[in-house]
Amino acid sequence: MATKLVLITFAICRLIVTVGLTMAPAELLRLVVDGHLSVDPSDVETASKDFGLMSRAEPSAVLHPNSAEDVARLVRAAYSSAHGFSVSARGHGHSINGQAQVRNGVVVEMSGGNRLGSGKPVPRSQSGRVVSEKGLYVDAWGGELWIEVLRATLEYGLAPKSWTDYLYLSVGGTLSNAGISGQAFNHGPQISNVLELDVVTGKGELFTCSEERNSELFHAVLGGLGQFGIITRARIALEPAPKRVRWIRVLYSNFSAFTKDQEYLISLHGQPTNQKFDYVEGFVIVDEGLINNWRSSFFSPSNPVKISSIDSNGNGGVLYCLEITKNYDDSTADSIDQEIEALLKKLEFVRTSVFTTDLPYVDFLDRVHKAELKLRSKGLWDVPHPWLNLFVPKSRIGDFDEGVFKGILGNKTSGPVLIYPMNKDKWDQRSSVVTPDEDVFYLVALLRSALDTGDETHTLEHLTNQNRRIFKFCDEAGIKVKQYLPHYTTQQEWMDHFGDKWPRFYQRKMEFDPRRILATGQRIFTGPS
Ligand code: FAD
Repeated sequence: MATKLVLITFAICRLIVTVGLTMAPAELLRLVVDGHLSVDPSDVETASKDFGLMSRAEPSAVLHPNSAEDVARLVRAAYSSAHGFSVSARGHGHSINGQAQVRNGVVVEMSGGNRLGSGKPVPRSQSGRVVSEKGLYVDAWGGELWIEVLRATLEYGLAPKSWTDYLYLSVGGTLSNAGISGQAFNHGPQISNVLELDVVTGKGELFTCSEERNSELFHAVLGGLGQFGIITRARIALEPAPKRVRWIRVLYSNFSAFTKDQEYLISLHGQPTNQKFDYVEGFVIVDEGLINNWRSSFFSPSNPVKISSIDSNGNGGVLYCLEITKNYDDSTADSIDQEIEALLKKLEFVRTSVFTTDLPYVDFLDRVHKAELKLRSKGLWDVPHPWLNLFVPKSRIGDFDEGVFKGILGNKTSGPVLIYPMNKDKWDQRSSVVTPDEDVFYLVALLRSALDTGDETHTLEHLTNQNRRIFKFCDEAGIKVKQYLPHYTTQQEWMDHFGDKWPRFYQRKMEFDPRRILATGQRIFTGPS
């Protein structure tokens, strides 16, 4: 206890010094937490960086909370201090442009296990999480990683319905954006699969919210870019977990055939399970990139892709890969082949290009982690990532293909380029997230790594310039894209991004974080007033 008090006092002293006495000592001296307020250089260093490795901001301190109440205490201190100070939740720091960083404020390090208090009379998994088999939900701590949530629910034979491609992301982090993957056409994004939240607002008040209770806060926080509160608990809807997955890739040389088939497959969302796929994604192959990219593990030496054997010349050398899966278990194992065949029959891919693999459900969901480990071993993970994620309206996806995939990218990608459509009616318009104004829109994700290889086309400068050219092209061609995981630097750009939703977004900010304390790294509002 004595050591803890010394540490806290030390942390507070550093806070006061580094923030230049902008914070009232009285509020900070009252800040006693069960967790740990750290000024350890390694904590500060970690909180200063993110996956993008393109921006950096040092916080004055890092809070490792032990509970939601710890988070509330810190935000209350910031809210009641004479000058205010910024507080940013950090999930797993997988943002690209410093969205979870804060200069001269406090970062709340949310990730690292489950910090929900015990004592509720509900069954808990071995890891201590509340899993309701009857209610089909799990209560997760806001900083938990999705891989941890999956492991806990699988103990009950259950799993969340909607995913991201990569599971080492935090619950609060993806819910602050949307959380999308190939299941979104069917179940909606992750934010459409949340039953209840506990949220610490920018006033330091802890509320439980849902559709029925404090619903304005509930909808504000989902897709809210951390602006309205810190999610400390999320109640996530579950379904029985399938055992295995049939994972299929087929190729197209014709873009309109490719998108027609993707759109057809997502239009089946209302059909019975045996008449649709469970996951629909796709990617663009503009060069030898498929071999080098981090998803190439699918194509094992025993199942090689003979891309060269497929004529893409008439198509500017660009190929498109449709990626689909069908989940199954013992009771459906006998019928899976026929179900897949019936679905594939209706598609117009290159007939010689069907690549299939079969694997446990968990291995499918956790597929990107394997690629991460490979890249890490080659020193290719901790490099700058000038990623660009766009929602493109269905009516203009052909123009986007001509201008970007067959144009600006110039037969070089430097990383995977994903493309898949989603149904807008699976997105709740009351949430804060913004999507294009059409019933169907595509995610186009340019997930590129900048490398120092001597090749000019791999440099950060080149890739960043290309991103700018893509925006310019869309602007000039009148393609009304919306950024996913948006990054802007002026409030006018944010107002344009939110469009009709801006007045409500602004009003919600004034209500839930009136001193503009939270998530200043998003650069939507100027810092604390
Ligand atoms: P952070 O980067 O730490 O935080 C992001 C924002 O949310 C910040 O503003 C932060 O302040 C705020 N925040 C964090 N925690 C909370 C909380 N508890 N309460 C309130 N606000 C909070 N996204 C997809 O949708 N689909 C994908 O398939 C996908 N794949 C990815 C793969 C990789 C390798 C990477 C690096 C990212 C991927 N993403 C994907 C993007 C991911 O959803 C975002 O990076 C997201 O921000 C989650 O990352 P995080 O948990 O590390 O959050």
